[in-house]
Amino acid sequence: MTDVVVVGAGIVGLATARALADRGLAVTVVEKEGRVGVHQTGHNSGVLHSGLYYRPGSLKARLCVEGRRRMIEFCTEHGLPLDVSGKVVVATDERQVTVLDELERRGRANGLRGLRRLGPAELVEVEPYATGLDALWVPEAGVVDFAAVADRLAAGLAADGAEVLTGRAVVGIVRTGGGIRVGTTAGPISARFLVNCAGLHSDRVARLAGVDPPVRIVPFRGDYYRLAADADRLVRALIYPVPDPRFPFLGVHFTRRIDGTVEVGPNAVLALGREQYRGTRPNLGDLGEVLRYRGFWRIVRRYWRTGAAELARSASRLTYAAAARTLVPALGARDLRRAGSGVRAQAVDPAGTLVDDFVLVEGDAMVHVLNAPSPAATASFAIGAHIADLAARHL
Ligand SMILES: Cc1cc2nc3c(=O)[nH]c(=O)nc-3n(C[C@H](O)[C@H](O)[C@H](O)COP(=O)(O)OP(=O)(O)OC[C@H]3O[C@@H](n4cnc5c(N)ncnc54)[C@H](O)[C@@H]3O)c2cc1C
Repeated sequence: MTDVVVVGAGIVGLATARALADRGLAVTVVEKEGRVGVHQTGHNSGVLHSGLYYRPGSLKARLCVEGRRRMIEFCTEHGLPLDVSGKVVVATDERQVTVLDELERRGRANGLRGLRRLGPAELVEVEPYATGLDALWVPEAGVVDFAAVADRLAAGLAADGAEVLTGRAVVGIVRTGGGIRVGTTAGPISARFLVNCAGLHSDRVARLAGVDPPVRIVPFRGDYYRLAADADRLVRALIYPVPDPRFPFLGVHFTRRIDGTVEVGPNAVLALGREQYRGTRPNLGDLGEVLRYRGFWRIVRRYWRTGAAELARSASRLTYAAAARTLVPALGARDLRRAGSGVRAQAVDPAGTLVDDFVLVEGDAMVHVLNAPSPAATASFAIGAHIADLAARHL
């Protein structure tokens, strides 16, 4: 018997477990993989987001700003790598300048410090190879190693007496008189409360618990390239495009990662499976579920043009390089080396809306995290504290 079972040992599950343990609760984290942090937490851009993009007052805005502060504290306290390098968001046409105005307004409303507009001449002082009509300097952004943070969280939890059980999948959840019985592939666990942080499988885990989720996870893969060693002088730190406001994705960007290498990406295409990082062979179960979902077909009807362009970009290095060159014209296709990919757990509602904000659904003695895409890694400590507050009302 434990107080709280947390399903999923990604950075959100582990940060939630930490917040619960800090309140004196007995916590058991159950992870189906043999290690912590192997899915979204281990396959992302590693960017410490500042809170720039998000609608003021949204959970994303509030929890990103607070989570960033806590992430910096954690990395500093534990000696984990962190570089608050700052970033530029670059507008390359007039329409994007209007969107940049709105981003600046949101950033100021979200309390970001040091935002500054840069003309083309000032932009090259910050990023010598970037070009654009207008740019926004965001000094509070940076890079971090989220997988290392997850490892440290797991080690700290174990040292403090919490259980982090890997190699055990949650396969059933039953409400009992005194609490919850969680069936796993290595036997049942009884708890007073359950938190579902299952990322790409969070809607399925909610259904296991008898909750009809208001959204479905549609997996979107993002492919990365790495700059060849002789081209990595083209990027000092972080160069971002102005995002298309219709989508929650930030667009293909340049990231000088914490290990010093420069990545370009990620794009966004439908993944052929929830954990399908490469290859063209679909996971028929996962794909069939997407294709049977009415919300998915509404996205296709609305955005098929954008989807086709993203697919073309995914299939061809030349097309990918052409898109990246709008920000850094000196870049050539030969400078790009294929790197890894990640799969985003993006919630979609039945109307075909790519849900923008974080979504947490409370049930009887449980909380389900049903949409925690970027910047949820940055925000993880604040999400964890928020969930611990919700749990405390029941415990
Ligand atoms: C391409 C990409 C780029 C991104 N870039 C950034 C960025 O730069 N900055 C940022 O802040 N965020 C970024 N994100 C978002 C960030 O990575 C995620 O928001 C964050 O990692 C979510 O963490 P999580 O713990 O919810 O999910 P995950 O890390 O996916 O963890 C969920 C865990 O649940 C486990 N699980 C699932 N089902 C079960 C089950 N039945 N039983 C037991 N365990 C189960 C899984 O195995 C997994 O380990 C990016 C994401 C992607 C994909």
